[in-house]
Amino acid sequence: MMRIQRAAGAVVGSAVGDALGGPFEFGPPGAFSARFPEPGAGGEMCGGGGWDPGEATDDTQMAVLVAEFLLERGGLDLPDVFARFQRWAASEPKDIGLQTEDVLTNGMPWDLAAAIHFQVNQRAAGNGSLMRASSSAVHFAAAGQAATMDAARRIAALTHGDRAAWEGTAIFHELIRLTLEDTDPLTAIPDVLALVHPDHRGRYATVLAPAWHPDQATEFNGAVWPCLGSAVWALRTTTSFEDAIRAAIDLGGDTDTVAAVTGGLAGAYYGLDAIPARWTRPLHVPLPGSDGRVLHLTDLLHLAHRLAEGLSTRQA
Ligand SMILES: [Mg+2]
Repeated sequence: MMRIQRAAGAVVGSAVGDALGGPFEFGPPGAFSARFPEPGAGGEMCGGGGWDPGEATDDTQMAVLVAEFLLERGGLDLPDVFARFQRWAASEPKDIGLQTEDVLTNGMPWDLAAAIHFQVNQRAAGNGSLMRASSSAVHFAAAGQAATMDAARRIAALTHGDRAAWEGTAIFHELIRLTLEDTDPLTAIPDVLALVHPDHRGRYATVLAPAWHPDQATEFNGAVWPCLGSAVWALRTTTSFEDAIRAAIDLGGDTDTVAAVTGGLAGAYYGLDAIPARWTRPLHVPLPGSDGRVLHLTDLLHLAHRLAEGLSTRQA
């Protein structure tokens, strides 16, 4: 498969998962297949819970902010990313993670806001840095293993003070990089775990183990560990993009984000062409704070192509 097929699959797949999962957020397990019992029957981009059919949520909005930043600036200017996140957060997006909102609006400088939130609250391992990582994962893949994991940690740290969130986002980046290289991400997991900070390796080894099931999670799947573990489980236990997304949303809870992370992995794994057109057609990403801009499939594909050109073309 062409690398661009996988890169576009990651970017679009994540957005599709987000838009499909949004209406089911905080719902019970099994709600998606109860409503759509027949895979492939259509109508799944149903909207609801304040979302229009096909409307992507904050997960994809933030991924687009990161994408546009990377394409405009070509490198990691962290204060600029933080400022863009802040402008977006101040534009009243329909949804925003509690932790992300607090860090972006507490008035602290970019390099202290997340750390101070963590110090005060002692809980900062939400999945909010993982959910937006598809675009940066595609972009930094070309820079190699160390650079992509480093970039993941730095972008995650803008809003998440707990290193657990950095490590989970770095694992996701590396799994996407390997998939773009035609390596099976599932068989590579032991190697990727060896690259995780030792203090956090054990917990990720647990949720990424082949026998782990989301029922064994010790936290709500709004936390980074079960969210990543559930996405990998959904990829491992199904055989198509569509079924992976169905499995992810059927877990209930933080369905948009679990499906966004699953969609990023499964989109890279199966490629863009495996994502049903009936899901990409209604897909759209409103961007609060951008004068009413709304991205559609063609815009996301354009972003994906430019992100996948990676660092080499710009540096040349
Ligand atoms: Mg969301």
